[in-house]
Amino acid sequence: ASGQTTFRRVLLKISGEALMGDQGFGLHPPTVERIAREVASVQEMGVEICMVIGGGNIFRGLQGSAQGMERTTADYMGMLATVMNALAMQSSLEGLGIHTRVISAIRMDEVAEPYIRRRAVRHLEKKRICIFAAGTGNPYFTTDTAATLRASEMACEAIFKGTKVDGVYDKDPKKFEDAKRFETVTYDEVLQKHLGVMDASAIALARDNNLPIIVFSLDEPGGFRGILAGEGTSTTVHG
Ligand code: UDP
Repeated sequence: ASGQTTFRRVLLKISGEALMGDQGFGLHPPTVERIAREVASVQEMGVEICMVIGGGNIFRGLQGSAQGMERTTADYMGMLATVMNALAMQSSLEGLGIHTRVISAIRMDEVAEPYIRRRAVRHLEKKRICIFAAGTGNPYFTTDTAATLRASEMACEAIFKGTKVDGVYDKDPKKFEDAKRFETVTYDEVLQKHLGVMDASAIALARDNNLPIIVFSLDEPGGFRGILAGEGTSTTVHG
């Protein structure tokens, strides 16, 4: 197993689709558990962990509005989808004996804590994993923006974006054999070349707060821990 890391507090962002396994929709509990184990092995290194999980495996606001739904209503449904994913992740992590809190940007006190920044910081200090749910609580945003916002508020040293590929490429590596991976790339390049790391508002917020985004593969067993220990391949988006 990999050894040391210099990171003390990080935020892991995954899409909702990362939780659906090969199903094409919804939640696949064994896949959720696999990711929970990846997170657990990073926690063992002593790192404080925040998580933001998307909702695209269940509902996306834009899809709803394309089919005639009112946009903000559809976006609220998307935010509610992220709460379901957060609860699934909480359940898996707690099954591994890890203390967690689901912290929702939309109040639903029976299900999750409301977001109170100082309280969330305290949870992290006590080594509880904070799963931030319901995005930013506002329509027209994405969970990438929520991840950047919460990482900034929690003073995380970086956002780790777990994806299906091991970094940012100049073109889709699943379609083009000669696609080239960037070792590092600037926020401005990501925006100018439309590199699709995160949406533009998330990238701009990360840039304004000097928050590095490290894109890595979540499909690699032990990948998250390895990246934190400085092993394996990834791309760092920075200033
Ligand atoms: N959403 C929103 N505001 C937020 C975060 C999310 O309105 O701050 C809605 C939006 O409709 C989005 C959906 O929730 O489509 C699911 O989030 P996202 O698309 O970011 O999930 P991912 O693609 O990461 O699975």
